[in-house]
Amino acid sequence: MLNGEKQIARPLRWGMVGGGRTGQVGYKHRTGALRDNTAYRLVAGAFDLDAERGRDFGTNLGIAEDRCYATYQELIAGEAERDDGVEVVSIATPNFTHFEITKACLEAGLHVICEKPLFFSVAECEEVAKIAEDKGLIVGVTYGFSGHPLVRQMAAMVEKGMLGEIRIVDMQYTHGFNSGDDVNAGEAVKWRTNPETAGPTFVLGDIGTHLHYLSEVVLPHLRIDKLLCDRKAFIPTREPLEDHATVLTHYDNGARGRLWVSSVNTGHMGSQRYRFVGSKASVEWSDAHPDQLMYEVQGEPPRTLHHGMPYLEEESLAIDRMGALHTEGLGDSWANIYLWIAQAIDAKRRGDEAFLKTHHYPGIAAGTEGVRWLENCVRSADAGATWVDYQ
Ligand code: NAD
Repeated sequence: MLNGEKQIARPLRWGMVGGGRTGQVGYKHRTGALRDNTAYRLVAGAFDLDAERGRDFGTNLGIAEDRCYATYQELIAGEAERDDGVEVVSIATPNFTHFEITKACLEAGLHVICEKPLFFSVAECEEVAKIAEDKGLIVGVTYGFSGHPLVRQMAAMVEKGMLGEIRIVDMQYTHGFNSGDDVNAGEAVKWRTNPETAGPTFVLGDIGTHLHYLSEVVLPHLRIDKLLCDRKAFIPTREPLEDHATVLTHYDNGARGRLWVSSVNTGHMGSQRYRFVGSKASVEWSDAHPDQLMYEVQGEPPRTLHHGMPYLEEESLAIDRMGALHTEGLGDSWANIYLWIAQAIDAKRRGDEAFLKTHHYPGIAAGTEGVRWLENCVRSADAGATWVDYQ
């Protein structure tokens, strides 16, 4: 079980772009990065498009005033002049800014932790992957719940053959927060429903990429052969983007997948649900009850496994933070993701490529695969919801 003890030689000097006072996701980053006092120190930021509000916010977080910058360009330039400048920057800004800010940080020699969906196209991902490779830098991506111990439990059970051959992958991430129109919508909805600022998708990128990445973590041996995506905007002003989509998937082992993403599932607060069905048994996990994993063997009473219990697999227990009886949730999962990325950065600095080969964290490949999946979904949907070979 993790207890916040030192895992890398010293904490990384960390900065943030975006994630300011009004930002939705910024606090999740700080919750993740700062959970272990030994992994990151927040020393600088360009937190907000509104420079004054960003400075006020940064100083309220305890950051020196001269390290609360008006823009990301000033942050990069200002920190480069210091011996103790930032080493890694998190990007928690709207989608359309990710590519330019990531590139600028990498070119300045900084590691990056960027929000999903990573960029607008696979071509952009590949360009950034090349820069990171050439510069010897890490790019991490924050797929929130993928660091939860019961997600690792599902992955370990699949790997050990406890489910048998995987047959069905059933995933849902839905909520009802956009069931009404956008007449009085706030900034976070406005940029999400405009292709120029959101990219080629709304809910597929906003929440569907979480489902796709988590399925990759649990089922790393499966590849998508083909998919069919049907998308629709129930609120017409959101077109050509979608507020609802379903995706059918054929995997290379013959398994079938069904995925539903929606932000117009009126009244629903269940959020994410994953069910993996094998020839021997099934597992089901939902963030509505993140402490519990349903394990069902045909012909036997269903079992509810609890996080932190000694009957779980070692891979799950090793990353549990709270221990059984106490809730283990999203913040703990983010803390694991941030720690894994810190370990990757530390290994890169030490030139420990052997560690990096087996180390598991959401990196540039995971970010790229999320964007590749979106490109395939859009290709299918825009061709009238037809089956397309996965490219
Ligand atoms: P938001 O609109 O609520 O907040 C964006 C923040 O970035 C604001 O503080 C804004 O002032 C700031 N900002 C915008 N442009 C900036 C710039 N050029 N320089 C500095 N600051 C800038 O958006 P949000 O909902 O927090 O989403 C941000 C990103 O996080 C998106 O890519 C979104 O997809 C992602 N996100 C991920 C998760 C997750 O679970 N991983 C959850 C929510 C959002």
